[in-house]
Amino acid sequence: MKVWLNGKLVTKGEAKLPVFDHGTLYGDGVFEGIRIYGQRIFQAQAHIDRLFNSARDIRLAIPYTKQELIDAMYETLQANSVTDGYIRLVVTRGVGTLGLNPFKCPDPNTFIIADQVALYPDEMYKKGMAVIIAKTIRTSASMLKPSVKSLNYLNNILAKIEAIDAGVAEAIMLNAQGNVAECTGVNLFIVKDGQLVTPLASAGILEGITRAVVLILAERLEIPAEQKNIMPEDLYAADECFLTGTAAEVISVTKIDGKAIGTGQPGPITRKLLEAFREYTRSGEEL
Ligand code: PMP
Repeated sequence: MKVWLNGKLVTKGEAKLPVFDHGTLYGDGVFEGIRIYGQRIFQAQAHIDRLFNSARDIRLAIPYTKQELIDAMYETLQANSVTDGYIRLVVTRGVGTLGLNPFKCPDPNTFIIADQVALYPDEMYKKGMAVIIAKTIRTSASMLKPSVKSLNYLNNILAKIEAIDAGVAEAIMLNAQGNVAECTGVNLFIVKDGQLVTPLASAGILEGITRAVVLILAERLEIPAEQKNIMPEDLYAADECFLTGTAAEVISVTKIDGKAIGTGQPGPITRKLLEAFREYTRSGEEL
C-alpha cells in the first residue's frame, strides 16, 4: 500500500507522524472519509468544501489548494489500483510544543489513505440493524460545532462504546434539548405516514454528504421530506428508520432499544432509497 504524505507517495511502513504532532497529542486536526465508485471520487467537491470549512472553523490553514488535494487523491487511487473503495484525507495541526497553542505548529501534516471499506455485513443491509439510544449527549454547537469534522471523536466514541456494550452496531445520540441529533458516525432518517423526516442541522449534526444526496433522491422520487426536530418517542412510533453515511451508504434500522420499528423489516421507502442511492453511485452522474 502507498500512502500520500505531504506531497509524496510512501509505503505504509514509512507513513508515520511525529509524536509531537498536535493531531496525536490533542486530536487537533480535520478529516474526510470519501467513497470511490468506478474510479471516481464520489461528491469530491462537497467533501473538499467541508474539509476546508472544518479547517477554517478551527483556524487551521491547509497548505494545499482544493484542486491540489483532489489531484493528490486521484494519484493515491492510481498508485493503489483502487477502483471501488474509500479514501481517508486528514490534515493535522502539525508538530508543536507540549502546550495547546496551535499557532506554535507551523506546518500541518496532510495524508491520504486509499483502501477498501465494509462497515456492516451484507446481511444487515437485507434484514436491518438494531440500535440503541445512547446516554452520551452529542456535543453542542457552543462546545464544538458538530459541523466540524475534527480528529476529536471521543464524544461519538463514548456513544459507540454504549452500543457495543448493548450488543448492537450503532447508537442514536440526542442533543442537550433531548431531540435526536444523529448516530456516532451516520445521520438518521425516519419515515412516518409516507413522509421522510431527518433532524435539522441545528439539532447538532454533522451535515452528511450522503444525507444531502438522499434528500435530493427523495425529491426526484417524489417522496416528501422535511427537516425538523425528532423526539425519542417519534423514533419508536416511526414506520421506518434508516441511517446514511459515506461508508454505511443507506442502511435500515429495524429495532431501537429492543422495540421493533414498523413491521420489524426494512420498509418500502428505505428500500426504494437504498436502490436509488446504489444506482446513482454506479451511474457516475453528478447531482
Ligand atoms: N455524522 C457523523 C458524526 C459522521 O462522522 C459522519 C461521517 N462519517 C456522518 C454523520 C455522515 O456523513 P457523510 O454522509 O458525509 O459520510
